[in-house]
Amino acid sequence: MQRDSYQGSTSLSDRPERTCPVCGSGPEHARAFLEERIDASRLNQFSFASRKEPEFFNYRMIQCTTCDLVYVDRPPSQQALAHAYHVADYDSSEEANDAADAYMRELRPVLARLNRDSALEIGTGTGVLLDGLAAAGFRRLVGIEPSSAAFAAAPPHRRPWIREGIFREEDFEPESFDLVCCFMTLEHVRDPMEIARSVSRLLRPGGAFVTVTHNYRSAINRVLGRRSPIIDVEHMQLFSNMSIGELLTRAGYDEVQSRPLVNRYALAYWTRLLPFPSTIKRQLISFENAMGLGQRKLSFNVGNTIASGFRPADAGA
Ligand SMILES: [Zn+2]
Repeated sequence: MQRDSYQGSTSLSDRPERTCPVCGSGPEHARAFLEERIDASRLNQFSFASRKEPEFFNYRMIQCTTCDLVYVDRPPSQQALAHAYHVADYDSSEEANDAADAYMRELRPVLARLNRDSALEIGTGTGVLLDGLAAAGFRRLVGIEPSSAAFAAAPPHRRPWIREGIFREEDFEPESFDLVCCFMTLEHVRDPMEIARSVSRLLRPGGAFVTVTHNYRSAINRVLGRRSPIIDVEHMQLFSNMSIGELLTRAGYDEVQSRPLVNRYALAYWTRLLPFPSTIKRQLISFENAMGLGQRKLSFNVGNTIASGFRPADAGA
């Protein structure tokens, strides 16, 4: 059933070409980054869950020499993507909690400058970040989540905040949010610039857009190369510090900043991300658990970037 959503979109030549989704440069301003590697027989619903054992499948990616973005130049259709997310399984509530703690720590300097009336999260999963934002004083919370499984896994107190579906600007009032977050999601969408511009129109003047993205130029991702968890069939583009900054600046944000994010997860989770065969990883995790270490929390810079920008105070709607 899952595979139906990919059929027709797995052949490179059948898919229409796109220009750089951040700066609009054509493929003549790009160099090869990664050849396509798709094994349709092994694609399954787990491929589109947000945190999982890496599978190392990918669409062909090229690197824009103007803005530094790496992107799939012949992506599958938006409809295929939306459907794949809709049916995707959802995993890992504990890892989502750990990630949300890290995000809330890193958000503090931005939150200090904001009115805390209303916040929106695009790609909210089970809404764990919304709990943190509620605790930080936000009164009106909205999370958008395309995966039905994630929505179903959300605890009852968060469900009134969560809307199941794809983010669409027209579903919201202009200038109605003080904060919009989009974490580990911009890699997955067909048009990140459209999202950045839509978010700007939904923000009140002085409001902030904050993103977390993988950084393909980070040391860990360069060392892992093809085996990095960023190399994945679900990623339509990969950002660096420069290209996420370019996205926010070109979308009209002020005071754009990007810096490394430190993640804190249980040892067993880090082990799952290692580029070893799954049988070895399962043995390692059993050993860690037997030693009482599997749930020990460890902090690493795993090559993610947190970026923020503010809507100019004098911006027109
Ligand atoms: Zn570009």
